[in-house]
Amino acid sequence: MVPVSNLDPHPDEVDLVDEPVAPDRGAPGPLAGRRVALGQGTEVRRYLPTRRRATVGAWCFMDAYGPDDVSGGPGMRVGPHPHTGLQTATWLQAGAVVHHDSLGNVGTIEPGQLNLMTAGSGVAHAEVSGTPHPRWLSGVQLWVALPAGARRVPPAVAHHPDLGRADLGPVTATVLVGELGGARSPAAVYSALVGAELAVGSGRAGVPLDPGFEHAALVLSGQVRLGDRPAGAGDAWYLGRGERRLVVEGDPSGVVLLLGGEPFTDPLVMWWNFVGGSDEEVRAAREDWEAGRRFGEVAGPGAGERMTAPPLPPGRLVVRR
Ligand code: MN
Repeated sequence: MVPVSNLDPHPDEVDLVDEPVAPDRGAPGPLAGRRVALGQGTEVRRYLPTRRRATVGAWCFMDAYGPDDVSGGPGMRVGPHPHTGLQTATWLQAGAVVHHDSLGNVGTIEPGQLNLMTAGSGVAHAEVSGTPHPRWLSGVQLWVALPAGARRVPPAVAHHPDLGRADLGPVTATVLVGELGGARSPAAVYSALVGAELAVGSGRAGVPLDPGFEHAALVLSGQVRLGDRPAGAGDAWYLGRGERRLVVEGDPSGVVLLLGGEPFTDPLVMWWNFVGGSDEEVRAAREDWEAGRRFGEVAGPGAGERMTAPPLPPGRLVVRR
């Protein structure tokens, strides 16, 4: 099983608040992915949130998984579960995933296609491997926190099979979200944000950055240099704020995920699969899911078993500002 959700039975809400904010929080540095065991025998690498950093722009969750050989098993089995206050972005490097949601959609996601689900006031979905399914599965699961003014927008699901590409010399950027190098994504987002997959190629290229953004980069494959930092598959860096250019070079198998946005300043509570602006909002979402209210039924046969929300921790969920 490979997760496309926060299946952790003890979600680490404390990650958002437990550590004093370092005086140099805006300074570049490695984002140490920690291994998180999810479900049975499944492991992801989680880069966001960390104790030190909850968000990069409005990006508030970044998991990477695979490549996993799923030929001997059922593959991804993430049954129906709810979300609020965020957008989920599913982006695969290998394999295929079938998306089911409570708006009535059932569809297959393949590499190069962005599935962007806006949870807003509440939606439920499941992501599972089809039968049969490809041997290899590899991808990232990203969440975007909705700003306060859009946190309760009606839910929506968009599938974007054709994304803009920017030719940046040896680097080709596929723009998932926002704009980069003159290419713009059709995906609807609610804050100033960028997300792009950089195919590095042979040679060296300057990737234009918005100096009003903070950025992070995750190496998905190959061996590359991000500025003066050598980085291999699985390495991630917080690149700081105010940069106008990221010089990228590497071997032709190099692929880098670039995320960025205006620093997120609205109140933020993250717990399990919910984002809210307060303890009360998240509690209400959990109660509604457990009571079978608000989120509807996930469409189609084969969506798997409905998840149960874990118990809330004692005390109030802490709001990060
Ligand atoms: Mn999910």
